[in-house]
Amino acid sequence: MEKKHKSTSQNRTQWFKDHAQEFTGALLFDEPLARYTYYQIGGPAQVFAAPRSLNDLKWLKRGIEETQIPFFILGKGSNLLVSDHGFAGMVIRTHQLNVEVGEAPTSDVNVSSGDEASFALRTGGSVLISSLLRRTAQEGWAGLEFWTGIPGSVGGAIMMNAGTHLGETKTPLIRVESYSLELGTNWGPHVFTGENLKFQYRQNLFLPPGHLIWNADWHMSKTDPDQVKSLIDETLQRRKATQPIDYPSCGSVFKNPKSSGKNAWQVIDQLGLRGQQEGRAQFSDKHPNFIINLGGAKASDVVALIRLAQSRAAIELGIELEEEVIFVGEE
Ligand SMILES: Cc1cc2nc3c(=O)[nH]c(=O)nc-3n(C[C@H](O)[C@H](O)[C@H](O)COP(=O)(O)OP(=O)(O)OC[C@H]3O[C@@H](n4cnc5c(N)ncnc54)[C@H](O)[C@@H]3O)c2cc1C
Repeated sequence: MEKKHKSTSQNRTQWFKDHAQEFTGALLFDEPLARYTYYQIGGPAQVFAAPRSLNDLKWLKRGIEETQIPFFILGKGSNLLVSDHGFAGMVIRTHQLNVEVGEAPTSDVNVSSGDEASFALRTGGSVLISSLLRRTAQEGWAGLEFWTGIPGSVGGAIMMNAGTHLGETKTPLIRVESYSLELGTNWGPHVFTGENLKFQYRQNLFLPPGHLIWNADWHMSKTDPDQVKSLIDETLQRRKATQPIDYPSCGSVFKNPKSSGKNAWQVIDQLGLRGQQEGRAQFSDKHPNFIINLGGAKASDVVALIRLAQSRAAIELGIELEEEVIFVGEE
């Protein structure tokens, strides 16, 4: 059984090696994922591909169809905990794909609110939130300031319905275009608008598995650049003061358990877990819903802290702590 599994996984890898000349992006084998995650944690991916174009993506889809290799789409890696054993399949890193930013064609989007300042902005799924916010501050484009301090990509923010106390991704979102890499599915493009854009807290409910977010359109308004910049600057200062951003992490580990009326950090505090350490991972003293990597932490250290908080919260407080962080690979 073991032998069969091994030869299948070698065959899968071989297809990508044999056809590599048709691919223009980076293609690596047994590549450690710690290099691509904010946590700086994670074992190797069997195949690691960083496509540069739609043609590269189509080639990856062909490889997936030929080999049936499992795959995972990696944005900026800021909400992930990758197993110490890595990922037995292919990781597709999006950062070189669509990084365009500009007004959306009016043929695709109609923002006829009667307000002349309103417009629709189109952003590539691979655009980084930090660079996008710099651009919005320069141009005086208001509407996405609530993303301040979130270190991911546009695609990752849509996947996670990322948000802060200032707002959530779903609110200004008008339209999403994706391509499907999933085995046996129609390639696309697929377009989602209006009522099809379904979300809940830190989760999107509309994107089928294996879809890669190519671009998205946002309701924006033109205003004074200083106004946009000052809201971003203030929010950044506030986050620096309250979050342990000097250490690698995945941001909030748990979703806020809303039915309990508490935030996740309050639950962890109530359990006395602030500062609790396992190996080189620690519930941050500064913000206990962050588990930080003190340097050299293993995924298993982080998982041990997660399980400790979950079991104690359930037993001692009757509260279910649900992970916001996404696990990649076997625990
Ligand atoms: C210091 C710190 C602070 C943070 N603060 C916040 C916060 O205030 N609010 C908040 O909501 N989050 C926060 N996060 C978590 C994280 O930044 C967000 O969830 C972010 O949206 C993840 O984007 P990413 O590109 O890094 O996605 P990744 O972590 O790479 O992936 C997350 C998910 O998105 C999918 N994905 C990524 N790109 C694409 C794409 N193009 N197409 C399809 N699927 C894709 C992945 O497959 C995965 O399922 C924080 C994280 C850190 C490290």
